[in-house]
Amino acid sequence: MAKTPPITEAELSAGQPRPRPRHQALEIGGRALSPSTLMMGHGFDPALSEGSLKPPVFLTSTYVFESAAAGKRFFEGVTGKRPGGAEGLVYSRFNGPNQEILEDRLGIWEGAEDALTFSSGMSAIATVLLAMVQPGDTIVHSAPLYAATETLIGKILGKLGIKWLDFPAGATREEIDAVMAKAKAGGRVPLIYLESPANPTNALVDIEAVTAARDALFEGEKPVVVIDNTFLGPLWQQPLKHGADIVIYSLTKYAGGHSDLVAGGAVGSKAALAPIRLMRNTIGTILDPHPAWMLLRSLETLELRMSRAGENAAKVCGWLRDQPKVEHVGYLGFLEEGSRQADIYKRHCSGAGSTFSLYLKGGEAEAFRFLDALKIAKLAVSLGGTETLASHPAGMTHLSVPQERKDALAIGDNLVRISIGVENADDLIADFEQALAAI
Ligand code: PLP
Repeated sequence: MAKTPPITEAELSAGQPRPRPRHQALEIGGRALSPSTLMMGHGFDPALSEGSLKPPVFLTSTYVFESAAAGKRFFEGVTGKRPGGAEGLVYSRFNGPNQEILEDRLGIWEGAEDALTFSSGMSAIATVLLAMVQPGDTIVHSAPLYAATETLIGKILGKLGIKWLDFPAGATREEIDAVMAKAKAGGRVPLIYLESPANPTNALVDIEAVTAARDALFEGEKPVVVIDNTFLGPLWQQPLKHGADIVIYSLTKYAGGHSDLVAGGAVGSKAALAPIRLMRNTIGTILDPHPAWMLLRSLETLELRMSRAGENAAKVCGWLRDQPKVEHVGYLGFLEEGSRQADIYKRHCSGAGSTFSLYLKGGEAEAFRFLDALKIAKLAVSLGGTETLASHPAGMTHLSVPQERKDALAIGDNLVRISIGVENADDLIADFEQALAAI
């Protein structure tokens, strides 16, 4: 890596930041390095931290400026007077080394120009929405959404005079066109918010159809396409490549991957993330240094963990599908050839993931007996961890969703949601076999 020449006194007194040579080369001899290689060192220069192989956790609330002019210049970035964000470290509500290294690495997976990290997936979503909406706007969104996101859009933003219109996750181009046209007729549409696959049904949204519909209908300032990619990202689906502007993550799930932290992220272009960075600076939804450090460790094994969990899920779902007490397995690997969902999957996804819906024959009683009998799989909400988790959406994560909406979205009492981990797949099958026998 070429060292940046030291800054001159003249540059420093003009407020130029000291160079921070933190980036590992992205290619060697013309060969572009893969994300899993870059997760080991990208964004961190050990020479800046006493030669430490791993970054320290930077526990400080504020940073010392090298000159008053540098401080002023950094604040111009923080407040948006100078585009591109702060050029140096200022105050831990705005930025910090652990978060910046994590953001550099997170962006790699989708080839994103910029990334931001947040204290939770929900604080990422809330910060993105707050940065874009104003009273009288209409948010167009796919349905279903994670229950807290539905509450945020429907109830909390609703109180501020923001309306919403939705289309079902699997909607055709014509159906998407019709909803967008209706929204446009009602006034400003600042963003189109997608979740794909949807929680908990796993229904996929046609991102390409959404962006094509947006481009055909809107001229000038177009609605920003935002997508929650928590269930398949960043390994199995990369929505920026299909036209999305901002991709949101609950990093609590696959990215964190060990069920030991809560965090969120957003990736996109610098221009798309600029207003969100300003909002994050204002309301203080940035991730703390310690979970940021933990996420750096997690990203080193992201591909290993997700690949193994995906292979396990394929094996477990193949077995579950043939069991007499199972009504249906809602797994992306089983989409009906020739169906619209299979078409979206082929265009957008490179893997079926490891989170799926298991519809048992019966209702709540059967689902509860199955859940209570599990010995390896833990009865807990969340997903994407090294361990297998199982939960009951109708009675847990989606309890607050009105019954008619649950019925419309097939969130029935016989639905169990399962997130497969990295255990031995045959051990998991043995566990599900004895739990099915206990129904
Ligand atoms: N988006 C999806 C699809 C989720 O499943 C979740 C949580 O389960 C969230 C967002 C919220 O993430 P967090 O719990 O990190 O705030």
